[in-house]
Amino acid sequence: MQFSKPSSARTINRLRVLNVLAKEGELSRADIARVLQLNKPSTSEIVEQLLQEGLIEEKGKIKTSNGRRPIVLSLKTSAQLVLGVELGSKTTCFTLSDLGGNTLRFERIPTTQNPDAKEFGQLIIKSCMKMKRLTKAPIVGIAIATNAHISDDGLSIVSHDHWDWKDVPLAEAVAQYTQTPTTLVHSVQAMVEAERWFAKEESNSFLYINWGEHINSAWVQGNTITAIHSRFGHLPIRETGLCRCGGIGCLETVASGWALSEKHQGKSVKDLAQSDDKKIVESLEEASEAMAMALIAASAVTGCEKIVLGGGIANLPDVYFDTLKQFYRQHAHHSLCDIPIVRSELKERSTILGSVAVALDRWVFQNRLLQTMQELS
Ligand SMILES: [Zn+2]
Repeated sequence: MQFSKPSSARTINRLRVLNVLAKEGELSRADIARVLQLNKPSTSEIVEQLLQEGLIEEKGKIKTSNGRRPIVLSLKTSAQLVLGVELGSKTTCFTLSDLGGNTLRFERIPTTQNPDAKEFGQLIIKSCMKMKRLTKAPIVGIAIATNAHISDDGLSIVSHDHWDWKDVPLAEAVAQYTQTPTTLVHSVQAMVEAERWFAKEESNSFLYINWGEHINSAWVQGNTITAIHSRFGHLPIRETGLCRCGGIGCLETVASGWALSEKHQGKSVKDLAQSDDKKIVESLEEASEAMAMALIAASAVTGCEKIVLGGGIANLPDVYFDTLKQFYRQHAHHSLCDIPIVRSELKERSTILGSVAVALDRWVFQNRLLQTMQELS
């Protein structure tokens, strides 16, 4: 895109109007012009275009202090839909969402262990097609989140973190069958997007930890999310214990969902969390301290301002979270021991909402592009 061209300026301002309505809710034409510092004719032109596209609607008149009654505009959330998909270790979820991020339909299928790429890909396509048939409004894009190294164009899984998948053009296949643009995204990157979009996280630099069946992290600085090659779950913190990666004493051997289940007869983390069995309590405390140790190392390297914990194990009862915070505060460098450590309020929905956030941004709002342009200008 050549930004200096008038047509590009119009495209950008169209996106800015869409984003401001998504953020603020209802605004009059004059409000939009004022907030975005646009002149009134341009604002009107863009508003007319968006009304014609059916993406926004007029919502009647509001009373203002000076007695004028301008018409307010708002996003027409039902105009277009996106589909978010989460390929998790145990389940694969599909969420159909409107432009306001509201879930309209949710489906879940089990993920088999180390699924066959072709077979499982066909199952995913089938579920996406089903979602498409069930709605009248157009699905403008699909985003699929999974723990994998994704190709630069977002169309293929180069290698999966936990399955033997190599060069699987999953998004390309889904796009072809559904006739809908599709992209892949790393799960932890999706979780960060969910934090920004749904939990309104506004910190400029924070460390996000996905603490679940496996453990990974994202380091967020402004618009940049570094996640794909990080191996947070494999920080060595013990001298013994074989990890699934082949290494010895990784964080995952003490604190991951898979390790905790293995230690306690295959019980789920949810069951473990409710138990008062001494051995189970001890291993959850050990897991919390191990996580704190790894966080101390990570904050020392990044100098982050905040730590956000997401994923299933982040939702352990408060007593374990307190153990973690206490251990962190006691052992972290004094300049870093007071940074906030919080748990994501999105809980187990982080990844699936993240895929929705990625789809909404990629195919509708392009807020990330706008922000990047703002940083460059
Ligand atoms: Zn490991």
